[in-house]
Amino acid sequence: MSDAFATLAVHGGESNDSRVRPVNPSIVTSVNYAARFGDIGYSASATVDEGAPFAYAREGHPTGRLLEQRMALLEQGVDAVAFASGMAAISGILLHLLGPGDHLVVSDVSYAGTAELTRGLLRRQGVEVSIADMSNLGAVRAAVRPTTKVIYAETPCNPIMTLADIAGLAEIARAAGARLVVDSTFASPAVTRPLALGADFVVHSLTKYCAGHGDVVGGIVIGRDAATIDALRREIGTHLGGMLSPFNAWLILRGLETLSVRMPAYAASALRVAEFLERHPFVTAVRYPGLPSHPQYALARRQMASPSGMIAFTVQDAAALGRVLERTLRLITYAVSLGESRTLLLYCDTADLQRTTFQLDEAGQARYRAFAGDGLWRMSVGLEDPSDLCADLSAAFDAAGGA
Ligand SMILES: *Cc1c(COP(=O)(O)O)cnc(C)c1O
Repeated sequence: MSDAFATLAVHGGESNDSRVRPVNPSIVTSVNYAARFGDIGYSASATVDEGAPFAYAREGHPTGRLLEQRMALLEQGVDAVAFASGMAAISGILLHLLGPGDHLVVSDVSYAGTAELTRGLLRRQGVEVSIADMSNLGAVRAAVRPTTKVIYAETPCNPIMTLADIAGLAEIARAAGARLVVDSTFASPAVTRPLALGADFVVHSLTKYCAGHGDVVGGIVIGRDAATIDALRREIGTHLGGMLSPFNAWLILRGLETLSVRMPAYAASALRVAEFLERHPFVTAVRYPGLPSHPQYALARRQMASPSGMIAFTVQDAAALGRVLERTLRLITYAVSLGESRTLLLYCDTADLQRTTFQLDEAGQARYRAFAGDGLWRMSVGLEDPSDLCADLSAAFDAAGGA
C-alpha cells in the first residue's frame, strides 16, 4: 500500500484476505473468541497463536487491533498498544520501563496528569525523578545520571506551548543508554513523527486530535520494537487491565480518517486567531508555533509539518476577562480538553498549577512566569470560521476593558 499519510489514515491496517469485506470498519464487541482445545492455557495472557489472534477482549480485539496497526503506520512505528485513556498509556509505558532505583528525567512543564503521576505514584514506586527544562538540551544533558532509564518529553508542551527538540533529546538518550518517550498529543502524527526523529516510544491521548470530535477517551503507545510493545500489552494491558473498548476504538478509527484534512484546517484558523491576538492591545503575549515570535520558531518549522491548533496567550487583566466570558462568548466554550471541532478556552492560573501540579523550583518558576505571569489562557482552535472566533474574542476583550 501507498505510504502517503492521508491514504494510511483511511486504509492503514485493512486486511483484504477475508471473503466478506464490509467497506468500513465494524465494531466487534464479543468478549471471547472460539478456540480449539489445547490452543489456550490458563494464564491471563494465554493467547496468541497465528491461527487464533484473539481469545479475550481485555488482551485484544479486532477493532482495537486495526486502530493499533493504523496508528503504528501513521507514526512510522512497528507496533502499538491502545489503552482506555491517554493517562493509561502514559502510566503504562512508564511503569513498564521503570523500577525501583531507576531514574527518570521529565519535563518541568507538562500535562497535569503526567506531572502529578511522576511526582506521586512513580516516586512511591521507588523511581527517582528529576525535572528539567525540555526546551534546553544542555539542561537535559546535565540532569542525566548513570541510572537514567527514561527521558520523557512532551511537545508542544501543555499549557505553555514550548517545544522539545526530539532529535536532540534522542541523541542524549542514546548516549545515556536511556529510552526517549514523547507525548505527541498536541501535534498528532499528521504534524510530527517522533519515532522518525529518534524517539523510542510515542504516546498519544487519542481523546484529542486523533479522535477529534470530543466524544471518546483513549490512549496509545507506539514503538519501534515489537517485543517491548508485546510485553507492554501483556504486563500493562492484561495485568493492569486498562484496555480500550471496541466501541471507543471504532470511534477513534472514524476520527482518524479525517485527521489529515483537519490538522491543516485547525492550523490555518489558529494562525489567523494568533495574528489577531498578537495585534490586540488587551493581549500582552502570544505563543503559537506558527508565529515567527515563537522563541523556537525555527525548531517548529523543522519538526512540525503544521503548527497545530493550540495557542497560549496572556492578557492585561485575566480576572476581568474571566468575569465577562459567560455573557460575551457566543461560540467559544470555556472548558478543558482540546483537539475537537469546537473551539475551547481555558485559564491556567500559575499559583494554582504550582501548588497542585508542577512544584517547580525557583528557576523553573521564573522560566514559567517569564511567559505565563500569574496565568495564561490556552485555546484549542476548532473548525469554526476564524473570523467568527476573532469576533467572539474581540467582544470579550472589549467587555473586559481592553477596547
Ligand atoms: C489530555 C492529555 C493527556 C491525557 O489523556 P487522557 O486521554 O485524558 O487520559 C496526556 N497528555 C496530553 C498532552 C494531553 O493533552
